[in-house]
Amino acid sequence: MKLTFSPYTLELKHTFTISTYSRDSTPGVQVRLRHEGITGYGEAAMPQYLGETVESVMSFLSKADMSQFNDPMMTEDILSYVDHLAPGNCAAKAAIDIALHDLIGKMMDIPCHRLFGLDKSKAPETSYTIGIASPQETTQKVKEASDKYHILKVKLGTDHDRQIIESVRRETDTPLIVDANQGWNDLDKAIDMCHWLKEMGVRLVEQPMTCSKLDLMAQLREASPIPIFADESVQRASDIWRLDGVVDGINIKLMKCTGMHEAWNMINIARSLGMMTMLGCMTETSCAVSAAAQLSPAVDFADLDGNLLIANDPFDGMHVVGGRITLNDRPGIGVIEIKQMQA
Ligand code: MG
Repeated sequence: MKLTFSPYTLELKHTFTISTYSRDSTPGVQVRLRHEGITGYGEAAMPQYLGETVESVMSFLSKADMSQFNDPMMTEDILSYVDHLAPGNCAAKAAIDIALHDLIGKMMDIPCHRLFGLDKSKAPETSYTIGIASPQETTQKVKEASDKYHILKVKLGTDHDRQIIESVRRETDTPLIVDANQGWNDLDKAIDMCHWLKEMGVRLVEQPMTCSKLDLMAQLREASPIPIFADESVQRASDIWRLDGVVDGINIKLMKCTGMHEAWNMINIARSLGMMTMLGCMTETSCAVSAAAQLSPAVDFADLDGNLLIANDPFDGMHVVGGRITLNDRPGIGVIEIKQMQA
């Protein structure tokens, strides 16, 4: 197999703000894995909080000698080799994993969701994210989104969270999930907030507290009338066990966990512990989002809107139709390149 890769800047349709930062564009690295005339596509997206950069991803990918593997079906050997090249580098590893799954699907002429034994008609609705903005902008964004999506994810973790929810509720009664992005570290306030949010039609709260504060999260979970999900507190499969009893569910993202292979393991571990699952994404093209979407029929919630936020998506893949994730029958991760990428 031959691995090639190049950086790619994703331009955002709107400035995106959460409790810790704000941005207009975001870097990515696009990956191709070729074998016997077939190309698998992959992608690395690097959110700041995970510490990967274009440089670190390129450096990791240059170390990966994929030419030693002549049979792409040997996924256990191949992905174990990639994982042991260096610690961390989860997005870089995910890029190879996604490209490998795309390649295998194309070789077998079968969509990845079928390789995992999943029925695409069971793909869930996706939430659409409303970033932190002024009350006016929030109202406008909610107005635009609430026709198309049947569940909205509202970013909180500010000192005016109630006003944000109130301005959303002035526009729509659609179900909400909220993501505090580690912003609620006062337990009593967080408990009050969860009770109030239940009254406001919120289905679940994601990452209320700093990722390491598992005791506080467990106490909040005890007292909260709505489910508590971990996002920043869970990265890979090995993190799930210590969250047993701490949260009701986990948000799994390919870029955090090294790709589809590990995401599938995580879905099954979480289920075996009685936890709910969500599949999320970073700001990324239809390549990585469609890869995650292949696994979506297996999860309780999907938050796969990263590709909808970018203006220069080079791929066509999974679509959201009537709020629901709609997978096509193309082989692999289901994408075609519609625009030549500029390095
Ligand atoms: Mg989150």
